[in-house]
Amino acid sequence: MRIQASINSWSSPATREPGSPSGLCERVSPSERTAVDGSVDRDPRTFLPAAALSRAMTLDLPDPEPGDVERTAIEVTTLPTGAPETIPCVVANGAGEGPTVWVTGALHGNEVTATAVCQDVIHEGLPDRLMGRVVSLPILNPAGLRRNSRESYYDGDDPNRQFPDVEYVTADAEPEDTLEGTRPPSQQALICRRIFDRLADDADVLLDMHTASAGAWPFVIRDRVLYGRGLRDEDGARALAAGVDELAEAFGLPVVFEYPTEEYLERELQRSAAGAALNQSGIPALTVELGGYDVVDDGWHRQGVAGTFRVMEALGMVDDAASVFPDDLAPFPKPVETPMNRQVRRHVGPRLEEPGIVRHDVAPGDVLEEGDVVARVVSPTGEERATVRSDHDGWVIQRYPGIAGYEHAAVTSMAVADDSDVVGTPGGNGRTDPRKPDRAKETPQARAREEREAGETLR
Ligand SMILES: [Zn+2]
Repeated sequence: MRIQASINSWSSPATREPGSPSGLCERVSPSERTAVDGSVDRDPRTFLPAAALSRAMTLDLPDPEPGDVERTAIEVTTLPTGAPETIPCVVANGAGEGPTVWVTGALHGNEVTATAVCQDVIHEGLPDRLMGRVVSLPILNPAGLRRNSRESYYDGDDPNRQFPDVEYVTADAEPEDTLEGTRPPSQQALICRRIFDRLADDADVLLDMHTASAGAWPFVIRDRVLYGRGLRDEDGARALAAGVDELAEAFGLPVVFEYPTEEYLERELQRSAAGAALNQSGIPALTVELGGYDVVDDGWHRQGVAGTFRVMEALGMVDDAASVFPDDLAPFPKPVETPMNRQVRRHVGPRLEEPGIVRHDVAPGDVLEEGDVVARVVSPTGEERATVRSDHDGWVIQRYPGIAGYEHAAVTSMAVADDSDVVGTPGGNGRTDPRKPDRAKETPQARAREEREAGETLR
């Protein structure tokens, strides 16, 4: 089922012939490529595959003896001031053979519950009862964590949109399918690629821990599985989706699908950690959302640890999830029941028609029918101005932070009834692939504005 990451076929500085500048772009000759702006025959060096620009830097994971745990720090780049930038890593090798599960956290630096989950999943009592291997990376974004901010301070881009894009590898692939933009990858993108290359080689399953916003209901996000253009066929995509289904079911939190395929690509969610693991490398993956950011949420933190062990039980790595739950977090929590017994997907809305102060009338976890009141808009002095009603059947994931409501601002994020297919192919409706291969051309301000307007601070 696994798709070998085609990015590995790019030549790197370590492997290409000395003095061979064409090593930058060996896989597709310049004459076969069309620039994203439609022009052709550009200087081939304006197309710079990220891997070709990476310094040869392989992340070496610890390799403890069977039945043992090893903790270390892995260098991911060198800071301008000369010190290595490292990410912490804990590996538990089970007493017997089994799959390898990666558990990752704090890709968004202020999502600290995720770090606590990753730290607590591997404890001294685990390896003896483990079949297989657990790789825990509690802080994927150390620069963000140091400042308690979502992004790293290297370049301000969202780290969870910086993993390698899916590449389509057949002769009928569109030229832009293999482009990564006309500018070299940012520092953050290089770090994400280095982590991803190791993940693609090593992991059988990825659980990427995140948090949504204050008071948010916990849930797991299922990515859409992409197919076509030589990436994988539809049957392969459905088999992969079935694997994700089992993971999501096992985790024990409500399951929410990502946006439908076109919007999924438009928001570049195939470049999230879980989206890239799944769609680029065929590794079943989940994004886990555990309440709010900034402080460790004790209740949802326990659910994150318990859910990870439930997945390990489903994979045959432990006999009984509850038996490996750390004593200091006991008792083992029950799964969180889904508020709505049907397929749901993420939806940002409803939105305001006129500005004002937002007073919510719903709480996270509430089930709504289309037309139910979600919030009232009042004047600064408290006079009622408008009523905001739900535009879908669904349940409330979170209220958006802050009460200052601008025109068209979303007031909630919801999980709404979803009839769309769990697999999809770009341009499946006769439209063009909505991916944005050249985001480097956009200014950071434009990107930030777009994200704010979309109410897109989740994941
Ligand atoms: Zn996040």
